[in-house]
Amino acid sequence: MTELDKSMLAAGEKLFERRWQLLKSVPALEFLPPASRIEVAFAGRSNVGKSSLINALVRQGGLARTSNTPGRTQELVYFEAEGAPLYLVDMPGYGFAKAPHDKVQSWGELVTDYLRGRPTLARVFLLIDARHGLKPTDLQIADILDEAAVTYQPVLTKTDKIDPRELAATVQAINEGLKTHPAAFPLVLTTAATKGEGIAELRATIAAIVAERA
Ligand code: GDP
Repeated sequence: MTELDKSMLAAGEKLFERRWQLLKSVPALEFLPPASRIEVAFAGRSNVGKSSLINALVRQGGLARTSNTPGRTQELVYFEAEGAPLYLVDMPGYGFAKAPHDKVQSWGELVTDYLRGRPTLARVFLLIDARHGLKPTDLQIADILDEAAVTYQPVLTKTDKIDPRELAATVQAINEGLKTHPAAFPLVLTTAATKGEGIAELRATIAAIVAERA
């Protein structure tokens, strides 16, 4: 580990020492908070482990709640912490579309408009269940992110559920699957929220994004 990695890990810990809280749920663009801080957003198929990951990140069990019921209103959920230079944004879960052409509607017009027009959105973490790898819906979402020119970084969840060899193959398959996607950040993070694995690295990644944009 380099000195830089160590300092970023420390910066990540410091960033997430704070007490995070719900700022607001945004059902339409007009309710977005002012674009006065950078933000990172979390996206993934319903049940991917998004709430668990956000809660592990902030070390607060009940902050993000599973909300990905089919048909639920699509909302962007903003979290803030006093003195923190960024917002965390919980995006609606996707994956309930019945047919491929439903994809955008299923994820919501709000989300696509948000991705296209939010200058302070620094990165989307695209959560992928380690047992399932990239699904066609994830690739459709990747296309939307490419089109919106928002950098997105794959984050594998639930890695405790597969063995290390399988994990390496899944990471390779994701790298392969996203190779031709212009906005994909070419480093897959691996996490197991329930065991706290990979969470420090995710915090460090977010701290590095903050440092870059400062
Ligand atoms: P969301 O719908 O994407 O917000 O997913 P949740 O965070 O609610 O997680 C869905 C299910 O996966 C729950 O039963 C969690 O306990 C489980 N889960 C989430 N993260 C992990 C993990 O890292 N390891 C394991 N084994 N289970 C997890």
